[in-house]
Amino acid sequence: MKANHPNNRRNNQKSVASCQSCTIYQRTLAKSVRLSGVGVHSGKSVNLTIKPAPINFGINFRRVDLPTAPLVKATFSRIVDTSLATVIGEGGCIVSTIEHLMACFSGLGIDNAICELDNYEPPIMDGSAGEFTRHIQAAGIVDQDAPRMYFVIKSPIELLGEDKSVHLYPARERKITCTIKFNHPVIDEQKLSLVLSEESFVKEISHARTFGFLQEVEYMQFFGLAQGGSLDNSVVIDENGVVNEGGLRWPDEFVRHKILDAIGDFSLLGMPILGHIILYKSGHNFNHEFLKTFFDRKSAWETSSLDTLDLSEPPETDQASELV
Ligand SMILES: [Zn+2]
Repeated sequence: MKANHPNNRRNNQKSVASCQSCTIYQRTLAKSVRLSGVGVHSGKSVNLTIKPAPINFGINFRRVDLPTAPLVKATFSRIVDTSLATVIGEGGCIVSTIEHLMACFSGLGIDNAICELDNYEPPIMDGSAGEFTRHIQAAGIVDQDAPRMYFVIKSPIELLGEDKSVHLYPARERKITCTIKFNHPVIDEQKLSLVLSEESFVKEISHARTFGFLQEVEYMQFFGLAQGGSLDNSVVIDENGVVNEGGLRWPDEFVRHKILDAIGDFSLLGMPILGHIILYKSGHNFNHEFLKTFFDRKSAWETSSLDTLDLSEPPETDQASELV
């Protein structure tokens, strides 16, 4: 769980220079971190301990409140529901609302970790991934003695809905572009494009909070959902504008949070994408639909570590510029 590999780093300098946002080695936390709070839907108190994990372990959740402390791997094949939040499960054990924590791991470039929970939903914190990010960065992140594998996009993959779409294009960097449209003057149309790196995630995305319309929040709470939801952990909008006293963290905080959610959703592929993801009005459900399409289109991608990939060569096609 160490490894600076000076020789390898020297050999791979060309690759690193060509993809500033990419990490060659798998990474984990230097030490455990602990956080507490309430689950946004359950409203229940929960303690979360995030622990380092060995190479090729992935991100796993352990329910320490259950007799056998079962482990659920955070991966596409374990998704059991995406209607209101991303829920994973195995053998009757579920973990709900994992998306912001998953976005944090992906954004910080952490491949391996164990998240121990004493309830079924991680704490919502302030509705962003900012607190998770701050704690993990304070604990430190270390390279591990194995290469990280990437999905390298070779040809475009698309999923078109009635009024939404997801496109994925070959690129020699990790890039995401997101457009949202809401029929409300506070949001209207927002669009943001950025190269994904630890730095851009921490600075531009990690603090963007989840948001909802007052009527929807009241509706959900009537049906026993969003029991932990409050102005401390979400941006709430009514017909006059943002209800929260402090206002927004950015004027386009909404599209930033949609990118945060998408980073979490795409992380369930199990390894990062080297390519350009373009989202148009997509959300959790449609993102997960796209993940199915992704695995159906095996000829459109390959898996590779960066040390065997020549990133100085341009990708086979780059049609993304037509769309963005
Ligand atoms: Zn979210």
